[in-house]
Amino acid sequence: MLKRFIQYYKPHRLMLFFDLLASLFISIIGLTYPMITRYMLKDLIPNLKYDMIIYFGILLFVLYIIRMVLRFFVQYYGHVIGVKMQAQMRRDLFVKLQKLPYSYYDNHETGKIMSRMTNDLMDVSELAHHGPENFFICGVMVIGSFIYLCTINVMLTLIVFACVPLLVLVAVIMRKRMREAFTESRKSIATINGQLESSISGIRVTKAFNNSKKETEKFEVGNSDYVKARSKAYKAMGQFSSSTSFITDIFNVICLIAGGLILYGSQGQNVGFDVPDYTTFITSIGLFISPVMTLIAFVEQYQNGVTGFSRFLEILDEPVEKENDNAVDIDAFEGKIEFKNVSFSYTDDIGVLENINFTIEKGKTVALVGPSGGGKTTICHLLPNFYKVTEGEILIDGMNINDVTFYSLRQNIGIVQQDVFLFNGTVLDNILYGRLDATFEEVVEAAKRANIYDYIMDMPDGFLTEIGERGVRLSGGQKQRLSIARVFLKNPAILILDEATSALDNATEILIQNALDELCKGRTTIVVAHRLSTIKNADEIIVISDGKILEKGSHDELLEQKGEYYNLYSMQFRHNQFLG
Ligand code: ADP
Ligand code: MG
Repeated sequence: MLKRFIQYYKPHRLMLFFDLLASLFISIIGLTYPMITRYMLKDLIPNLKYDMIIYFGILLFVLYIIRMVLRFFVQYYGHVIGVKMQAQMRRDLFVKLQKLPYSYYDNHETGKIMSRMTNDLMDVSELAHHGPENFFICGVMVIGSFIYLCTINVMLTLIVFACVPLLVLVAVIMRKRMREAFTESRKSIATINGQLESSISGIRVTKAFNNSKKETEKFEVGNSDYVKARSKAYKAMGQFSSSTSFITDIFNVICLIAGGLILYGSQGQNVGFDVPDYTTFITSIGLFISPVMTLIAFVEQYQNGVTGFSRFLEILDEPVEKENDNAVDIDAFEGKIEFKNVSFSYTDDIGVLENINFTIEKGKTVALVGPSGGGKTTICHLLPNFYKVTEGEILIDGMNINDVTFYSLRQNIGIVQQDVFLFNGTVLDNILYGRLDATFEEVVEAAKRANIYDYIMDMPDGFLTEIGERGVRLSGGQKQRLSIARVFLKNPAILILDEATSALDNATEILIQNALDELCKGRTTIVVAHRLSTIKNADEIIVISDGKILEKGSHDELLEQKGEYYNLYSMQFRHNQFLG
């Protein structure tokens, strides 16, 4: 893990080196102040070397100017290094997310993935640049001041140093409590965020049901939980800072009293500890304490950073969609599809499809019908290899889809689903999603064929109209037609229509059905639909229930059989749904 972490430093190693060098000088400059003080007290003042006093004053002034510049450098470039590393990690993560299979997203919530990309990586980058810096500055300061204090008086230094374990102990215990409390408050802010996300995206449903009060109550629960958790965290923080600063105060007292006693005991004897030494010792004890405190704080930063990084690696190590080594690129498929003894299950224990066999000749249309939950959508997802079949094989033009690259396979398949996903942006952006390098003329042509062109031209900015988040400013039918235009642009050999019109009213459906009929022309098509009117014209109808094929045949053949299809048909006919 460390190795993988260090790898992110690589592009910045020169900068990191200067950063650490600057940190080293900052620490050294910090040590000069007590040294000069001592020198003044011992030598310059008693011996009336006024000009030297001025020189040292100027020296300190210059040193502090240098330190100011160095501090700026460390603060600025240190953080820049951190944020660049963070950006690289986020980039790696995003690229990875694009490669993860459908099943990963079935099992992981968007919100949690997002928190890994933001909060967790923030912790990592904090550690990435503060880590080496703190370790370096504080290490140098602690050791440097320890040695320096020893040169003044070894015994007094050891006495003070003996109290360090006490400080560390108290700090570690308090830190732990504080961390727990802060973790809790972080969880509670995550809950609030989750609630907010759901409440805001569901605000239209809330209004329709007049449930604003209920939502506000739900929100208030989370919000007051947050106050509670946060108060607890602040209590722990208060305890931490008051007790640690009490201990540092004690340091000063010990230093004062023990130093005083040593000084008292050495009256008249030459033990090498005089009033200037005593004064220097007292002024420089802070030099020693503050880096110790920083190191203690660093422990927590370290824990957060390591946790964040390991959560980051967890995603990075997820298995990606893997294509066969010998997978080939196919430019254009003819479009013959065969399912041979295909069985499939999402999870190991529950089988979803069982021994599915069918063939669709090039350019023909097959309709899948049957009760909801039967496995129709699953079949649609297997063809583009979104999930791998558990048993059997799927062939396109006689080639196993596992032997074709994902890219060329998916390039040849167009999908229109019931839920249309549109991206934030303009109408044009969303149609272009079908083929990014299409010309504007081609987009216009696609829009015309999808029966949406006139509508687009009526919009305030035509093709450049913003459609709102996920297309909220469009009707269901308009969204569906945009998604059809996208597929026209993509122009694939194979088409999957999974309940493309199920969510629409009759009038809209007819409009869209025309566009869909046009879209199907010359393409091998799998259509899933509830309305038998759209199914009747298919070359073959396959009835699927419970993951198995019950019947196969043309509309007339299946009616004659008087089996499942006949039942479905007559039931729906009775409800008078398909006369339109
Ligand atoms: P249909 O489209 O015919 O209504 P589906 O293919 O969507 O049916 O679903 C078939 C079965 O697979 C259902 O029992 C459903 O619960 C299950 N299923 C669908 N998607 C998933 C998934 N991502 N993970 C686990 N089970 C799923
Ligand atoms: Mg379905």
